[in-house]
Amino acid sequence: MKTQIVLLGTLFLFSGSFCGTNTEKANGTERTSPIFEGTEKAEITLISVFDNYQVNPEMKTWWGFGTVIKTSEENILFDTGGNSEILLFNMQKMHIDPKSINKVVISHIHGDHMGGLEGFLEENNEVTVFIPSSFPNSVKSMITNKGAKYEEVSGYKKVADFVYSTGELSGPPNEQSLMINSKKGLIVITGCAHPGIVRIVKKAKEFSKKDSVYLVLGGFHHPPKSIIQEFREIGVEKVAPSHCTGDAVRDGFKKEYGSDFIEYGVGKIIEVN
Ligand SMILES: [Zn+2]
Ligand SMILES: [Zn+2]
Repeated sequence: MKTQIVLLGTLFLFSGSFCGTNTEKANGTERTSPIFEGTEKAEITLISVFDNYQVNPEMKTWWGFGTVIKTSEENILFDTGGNSEILLFNMQKMHIDPKSINKVVISHIHGDHMGGLEGFLEENNEVTVFIPSSFPNSVKSMITNKGAKYEEVSGYKKVADFVYSTGELSGPPNEQSLMINSKKGLIVITGCAHPGIVRIVKKAKEFSKKDSVYLVLGGFHHPPKSIIQEFREIGVEKVAPSHCTGDAVRDGFKKEYGSDFIEYGVGKIIEVN
């Protein structure tokens, strides 16, 4: 009983904890190794199932982020938004059976990214949840109590064929982002980009040994407008900023990138093939 109360208290803390101010720190201790092996590249579909921005009016919005990544072999849920009811509602609207998800990746500990996890696991616990290794034991025991498995991520790690984690980069809070080796090139997906969006993209280029980036998608965490030019300089071809990017920077990207700006929000489907 006491454990339950402590667990509930901790979860309440998460749901009340949202993405705060970004403080970029010096590089962490992530290791670099060759990845993206092989010449075959994946056809990928990205589907927004949780965001405060809306593309399809039939979907519900709420502060947070959640995207389904479909490869030819598996379905990965990256972040669960702040509320499982809205997450599951939106998944149903997009005809995504929660049971079709076999892996969940949580970018960082804030409630607007992992608040929907517990409710999701009640629908489907036959998943492996990839969490930053800095997560407290309360989260790990919540996952195992629901009957699911977890894998801790510290350095860069393979999540699935063509899909890799950057490993947790220092924030605060520590956060992992995803890198996908798609047919069109490197895709980087960020939850809230607390470690700094440009730093994350540079790390992803370093890990993947790519000179350019096909697409950067997700929350960019209220960066200064100067990052729009930095994105050009580091070779980012297309952008899909959402969640915590901020309207001003989002509009700035829209002006600079034109047809290479993708309006991302709940209900958006991006097919990369
Ligand atoms: Zn956050
Ligand atoms: Zn966030």
